[in-house]
Amino acid sequence: MDYKKHERHTPQCLECGDIIMYGRSDKRFCCDDCKTKYHNAMAKKSRTYRTRVHKLIARNYDILNSLVSEGRETADVAELLLLGFTPGVMTSCHRAGRHDVYGCYDIMYRMTGTKLYSIMKLKNL
Ligand SMILES: [Zn+2]
Repeated sequence: MDYKKHERHTPQCLECGDIIMYGRSDKRFCCDDCKTKYHNAMAKKSRTYRTRVHKLIARNYDILNSLVSEGRETADVAELLLLGFTPGVMTSCHRAGRHDVYGCYDIMYRMTGTKLYSIMKLKNL
């Protein structure tokens, strides 16, 4: 007989790592303080991530907006990378004919591996 199959899993608190001595077998925290700390840390992590993404979007928008202001419809990705552009960060993407059209709020563009083109700002929003 395999005794390991019958060993009871000893749950540990996700926050402090202490062994949970009592309660339901699926209990995840040793006390309410640990539960609160854990959930606050998870919420902070999520806010930090969202803030980081929002900053990347804002930087991309500023770069694209300056191109539009200069009347430019194309730009090399290498040039944009030097300015701090992050190619994978966008607010929309849709298919138009044979091309993908990317968007950063109201600025649309098409992209190859080396170039952004058809950069334009939507009107009448
Ligand atoms: Zn704990």
